[in-house]
Amino acid sequence: MNKDLSCQESVELVTDYIEDALPPEERWRFEHHLSYCPGCRTYVDQIRETIRITGRLSREETLTPARRERLLSQFRSRRR
Ligand SMILES: [Zn+2]
Repeated sequence: MNKDLSCQESVELVTDYIEDALPPEERWRFEHHLSYCPGCRTYVDQIRETIRITGRLSREETLTPARRERLLSQFRSRRR
């Protein structure tokens, strides 16, 4: 379980990370991923911004598979 997180795995952890609900080890792996992945850092910022604006986080709205897939493809196209 020392493998680095993929972007997809990281995106799935973002809400738990922001809610401070990750176990320490997962949190460390997540932060490690953020340290070298600008795309996922941007995603965390976007979620934080969403929470700031709406005052709450809707898990359903934020992490539907379709939205996640859209964000991931945005990351990919940004990297090109
Ligand atoms: Zn990533």
